[in-house]
Amino acid sequence: MTTTPFGRSAPLTILAGLFLDGTLGEPRRDVHLTTDGGVISAVADGASPARGATVLDLRDYTVLPGLINMHTHTVLPGDGTPFMDWMALPDELLLLRAHTNALVSLHAGVTTLRDCGGKGQLMFRLRDAIRAGIVAGPRLVLCGRPLTITGGHCHPFGGEADGVEGMRLATRGLIKEGADFIKIMASGGGTPGTYPYRPSYEVEELRAVITEGQKVGKPASCHCTAGEAVTRALDAGVDHIEHCYFHGPNAEWREDPALAQRVADAGVYVTATMQTMEDWMLAERARTGVVPDQDRHHETLTSMRLLHERGVRLVAGNDAGWRHTGFDDFSREIELLVEIGLSPLEAIHAATGRAAAACRLSGVIGTLEVGCAADFLVVKGDPTQDLTALRTPTMVVQAGGVVVDRR
Ligand SMILES: [Zn+2]
Repeated sequence: MTTTPFGRSAPLTILAGLFLDGTLGEPRRDVHLTTDGGVISAVADGASPARGATVLDLRDYTVLPGLINMHTHTVLPGDGTPFMDWMALPDELLLLRAHTNALVSLHAGVTTLRDCGGKGQLMFRLRDAIRAGIVAGPRLVLCGRPLTITGGHCHPFGGEADGVEGMRLATRGLIKEGADFIKIMASGGGTPGTYPYRPSYEVEELRAVITEGQKVGKPASCHCTAGEAVTRALDAGVDHIEHCYFHGPNAEWREDPALAQRVADAGVYVTATMQTMEDWMLAERARTGVVPDQDRHHETLTSMRLLHERGVRLVAGNDAGWRHTGFDDFSREIELLVEIGLSPLEAIHAATGRAAAACRLSGVIGTLEVGCAADFLVVKGDPTQDLTALRTPTMVVQAGGVVVDRR
């Protein structure tokens, strides 16, 4: 007999000194929150808890929703190992690595991972194992394999698909396997032999995927590290863009206010993934002793600042697993959102309520409201004044069950 980590925990009432509910609403003081059966059953301002309830006194702490990391590659190590070397390992090792990464994330306060691409069916199997209570782990929002052109970015994951019919078939297959969203590599990327500054798919191919997803309410997201890829993704009607760089075909940096405005007007979500570029640049500098000629981290921050200023809905995802970005410091991505102009409360919203909306999980995760999952963090200090409060949560609670308690 197995048990699920979700929905079986005993009732718990806490009294939060400061309470952030995951919306853009002002922080509140002295809030009682009660969980029952893994979900939030009551939220009351300053009121006395129900008679007889045992209250966990957290008046010295801030309580906020568990974080949602909107862009990870959970089967990858994030330790600088070259991608193709890692892909030479057997699937069993990748799955074990994914489990460890997921646990490390959870212990760092990330109660939901939106995985933007793993190999084969590995991430679906990890989710099966978590749901069955075989292993512990965060909630997983999955695309399975990213769709990519023959020889395209991340092709070793097994998601090669080409042509309108091929894309339609591949999308239907992923939905059958359990994908929550469809990820498309709309440009090349860091996979050797691919073209990060060139588009990969034709608009009709992208549209075939998006249309299939729309039939069953599954959003599509395009990886775009080229301006032309962003244009094609918007032409096709995409829901979400990962990275959203505007570079020209020869890697030339472009500031493109008109395209940024198009992204804003289309209402798509953009995952900023700034941390992975920062980690990469820091690693390069450590290796070579100099700042590389093209400061991609600075370019990324400039792009994201422009998108934010135009009103684009940025969400927090750090590309954990890729290159040098690990799973224990997602709060850095939230700090970077503040560096490009979001307020701390807006940056937290980008990793909670807004992230949930981008996953089409509003009312399920990301906010602390009656009926939502009892996924929350307890931190020392006030993160709306100082985001470093998020770096090491004092407590992590998932579905009403205490995962971490460092009090
Ligand atoms: Zn990625």
